[in-house]
Order: sequence, then C-alpha cells, then structure tokens
Amino acid sequence: MKAAVMTQFREPLEIQELPDPTPGPHDAVIRVEGCGVCRSDWHVWQGDWKWIGVEVNLPLVMGHEFGGVVEAVGTEVRNFRPGDRVTVPFHMSCGHCEYCYRGRSNLCPAHGVVGVNFHGGYGQLVLIPDASVNLVRLPDEVDSLSAAAIGCRYMTAYHGVVDRIKIQPGEWAVVFGIGGVGISAVQIASSLGAQVVAVSTKYEKLTLARNEGAVITINASADDPVAVIKDVTRGGADVTIDAFGSSKTTIPAIRSLKRGGRHLQLGLTSKQEQGIIPLPVDAMVLQEIEFIGSLGCPVTSYPGLLALIARGKLNPKRLVKNTITADKINQVLSSMTNFATTGFHVITDW
Ligand SMILES: [Zn+2]
Ligand SMILES: [Zn+2]
Repeated sequence: MKAAVMTQFREPLEIQELPDPTPGPHDAVIRVEGCGVCRSDWHVWQGDWKWIGVEVNLPLVMGHEFGGVVEAVGTEVRNFRPGDRVTVPFHMSCGHCEYCYRGRSNLCPAHGVVGVNFHGGYGQLVLIPDASVNLVRLPDEVDSLSAAAIGCRYMTAYHGVVDRIKIQPGEWAVVFGIGGVGISAVQIASSLGAQVVAVSTKYEKLTLARNEGAVITINASADDPVAVIKDVTRGGADVTIDAFGSSKTTIPAIRSLKRGGRHLQLGLTSKQEQGIIPLPVDAMVLQEIEFIGSLGCPVTSYPGLLALIARGKLNPKRLVKNTITADKINQVLSSMTNFATTGFHVITDW
C-alpha cells in the first residue's frame, strides 16, 4: 500500500510503499476512502505534547480521521464483514475496562490513538485493533467524505457541546478559535438552537462562522471580546467554548461567562504553555463557573451524531474545503504553521 510517512519531526512526509497490514483475530483492516488532515497531526509533526505523555515512534503514518470500507476482518470479529462502510473514533478502546463499561470509551487507556500510537489513515490501509468495539457502521446517507469530516474535530465538538456541556436552545454560546473544532462547534451549537458568538483574529474565519450559523462575530485583534460579549448578551454568556487552547482564549472565555456559566475546554495548548494556563479561580468560585474538559467522542454517542447527519440536521461535509492527494499533505501542514488553513482538507487519493 501507499502511505505518507513521517520519518523526522518537522520534515516533509514521504510517500512510500509499505507492506499491507494483515489482521490478527480481533482486528480489522480498513481501506481508507477519505482521511482528514488535522491540527493534531500538525502538533504531532511538530513533536508537541510530550508534556501530556504523547510518545511517537518514527517512522509513523499519521491520520486519525477517516472513513472507508472494511477490507478484511480477523476470525473473532463477528459483527463486521468485508465491504461494510465504517469510520472509527480516533481513540481506540478495548470494550471491557471500567471506562468502556460506563460508556466512556473515549477514556479507555488500552490502545491509544490511531495515527499517533500506531499507523493511521495517511496510508491506504489501516489496521484497527478490537474491531468489534472500534468500528462504527456508517448509515447509507453518510458518505466517506462526511465520515472523514466527522473523524476527530467534528465528533470532538459534538461530544463536548451535546454530552459534556449539554447545550440548551436559546443559550448564548461563545466559540473562541474558529479552526476545525471551532467551526464544528459553531455549526453544531447553532443547529441545536443556541445563539452562537464566534471569536477569531481572522476575518475569513468569521465569515465562515457566520455561514455556519453564528449570529455575532468578533475579531479579537480589533475589539475586546469580553466587553462585546458582556454587552450583546446583557451580562455574560451561558456557555463558552475554547476551541483553540491558549491563555489568550481560555482566560477571556471564562471572563465572558455570566454567573453559573459553563466553560468547555476543547483545545490543547502548544509548546509555549505546555498545558499550564493561569485561571481566575477566585472569580470562578464566587460565580460558580464550571470548567469542563472534553476528549473525542465515545462510540456510544455516534448513533445520535450519525442520525443528525443522515437527516440533514448537521452537515460536516460542508466544512470540507479541499480534497487532496497524499503528496499535498505537506502543503497543508506547512500552512497550518501560520493558521492559514480554513475548513477541512481531506486526502482522497494516493
Ligand atoms: Zn476499555
Ligand atoms: Zn484530529
């Protein structure tokens, strides 16, 4: 199979011919039809996240948001067959630990992340462990490009907005950072009836946010978002979502909340902060502000997400800006260094 391989951090990926994976008894092999290029890939490519225990062995085939067709299954995989159309959550679970039993498969420590801890969707074929619990069947209405668009950023936003922060119709929800996760959160929160405010430093990202349902947009390099939000919401937002991951977004997000507000943290930090952001804890105590972390999306939440997509209530595919061949990944990763990408880029050919 062909794959885009990272042989060194921060150096261009190389298109190589690799041996086809063969499944063990509990595994499946997926033929990838679409795989998104995610900012998480950029972080891994940079060698980030050692401070949260991310250990990457090179060479590595990245890629953790994909849809495709089952190519082969192991002898013990009973509920999927070759030809089935599937996607996977990026965090692989075991199906029989305390987290899996509680419906929190996104917290299962068994296998780690596809495309980070083992080879992923930048190759034409991907080996999926414990396939019975990690494969998610796609409804006919959800094509592979939609599946690639759901892969990580969109499902992360869905779990955060729906399961973790439990957005309510009519609530003011402010999204800081309109990258892949942020624009997904804008679309999902708007579709579920929230009044969404989008905050970015780039006008073209704010235009995209308006197209996805944001009712107010704020350019943080021109205006003070906290003051504008307090003004338009008459006192503060019900919910803030940091989809970026920096003191420049987390702190103003928390300061924009009204009393009893909920803050959803979706973005992880970069090299400068290494996971440490000073928070206004006194104000958070006095106002009963909740700080809620969210990671990926448990497999048990996929039926709801896929049903909303199949019925046209949510539209992740609309966020796909470009389909690309694998040799163009390097251009996308390079432009992510300057936050110059808008929407999703999906590999559909090698
Ligand atoms: Zn588990
Ligand atoms: Zn991702």
